[in-house]
Amino acid sequence: MMATQLHNETLLSRLPAVRGRYIEHVDLSGSTWFRVGGPADVLFRPADVRDLAAFLTECPRDIPRTVLGLGSNLLIRDGGVRGVVIRLDGAFNEIEVNGTTVTAGAGVLDVNLARICRDAGLVGFEFMRGIPGTIGGGLRINAGAYGRAFRDILDWAEAVDGTGSMHRVGLDELEMSYRHCGAPEDWVFTAAQFHGQHGDQREISARMQDVRQARKDSQPVNTRTGGSTFKNPGNDNPNGAKAWELIDRAGCRGLVRGGAQVSELHCNFLINTGAATAADLEALGEEVRRRVQAHCGVMLEWEIRRIGEHDPKNDPKTDRGNGPELVLTEEAP
Ligand SMILES: Cc1cc2nc3c(=O)[nH]c(=O)nc-3n(C[C@H](O)[C@H](O)[C@H](O)COP(=O)(O)OP(=O)(O)OC[C@H]3O[C@@H](n4cnc5c(N)ncnc54)[C@H](O)[C@@H]3O)c2cc1C
Repeated sequence: MMATQLHNETLLSRLPAVRGRYIEHVDLSGSTWFRVGGPADVLFRPADVRDLAAFLTECPRDIPRTVLGLGSNLLIRDGGVRGVVIRLDGAFNEIEVNGTTVTAGAGVLDVNLARICRDAGLVGFEFMRGIPGTIGGGLRINAGAYGRAFRDILDWAEAVDGTGSMHRVGLDELEMSYRHCGAPEDWVFTAAQFHGQHGDQREISARMQDVRQARKDSQPVNTRTGGSTFKNPGNDNPNGAKAWELIDRAGCRGLVRGGAQVSELHCNFLINTGAATAADLEALGEEVRRRVQAHCGVMLEWEIRRIGEHDPKNDPKTDRGNGPELVLTEEAP
């Protein structure tokens, strides 16, 4: 079946015929936890892995492609994302439990995998209860919490590369470390197999409740946020302090820029208090990095992925447009 909704002749006419769907000019702000960001030129929802692979094989190389999970670790800039944004759902949402192994599509929510494994009496997936993203997004960053991460339970992952070739790679080849995966940036993860151990369903359930409660107590989970903004510093941090501690010591808790604020509850989280632009959030994050470096010499590294183009109207780094000045006010005492 030919692609539907082909209105943007300049881009859409250059894209290959697919069995899935192309949708043009899609507002992406509703697709991220921050609820900010401009439009995608074209959103592509592949029908299945073969459709995705055929698309990647035939799509002209000069057209940028970006894969989107649940947008829980993403700051999409106000000018939007050029080219094609790929979203995996439908056929990518399947889960299959087989003894102590579980295969999940890249579109599966971490929380759903944790629940299925609990119901199957499988221990080891409880940490996923607190990570509000997809399996694909988790593979890309080796997501983790409470001392456990994807790499601890992963057997293999499948991906399609930028030329449409399919790969199945074992854990070792993925070179996963703290919030890092060594897979090439053009890989789109499509599925993964994990392993657990048989255990008591009630105990698993209790541990998942604990994870849920700990989240509610320590993180602004019911706000528009992107999770941890910066990675915890590694060897360049002689005191071993976590990112939130450095941010706190640098006096950034509660710092505000436009509609963006450093969370009072957990100061490694940025929040959109209602009317933030992506430019507000990014400029606030950069200001936090600057202040932390000035205070203790550590340059924090963004954990949140920032993608897309700046909107000149909102971009504080340009003199064009009528965006707000880069002036920070502090609401916190
Ligand atoms: C309240 C809150 C709490 C959080 N707590 C944690 C936590 O405890 N631990 C933690 O690790 N993270 C945490 N996060 C961050 C986030 O949930 C994880 O990083 C999650 O794994 C991101 O998945 P996603 O599907 O939302 O990916 P997205 O945010 O959509 O994308 C993130 C990156 O992954 C890439 N990507 C997405 N899907 C694929 C794919 N199929 N193939 C290749 N690349 C892909 C994207 O291109 C992008 O670069 C938290 C976020 C929030 C909002």
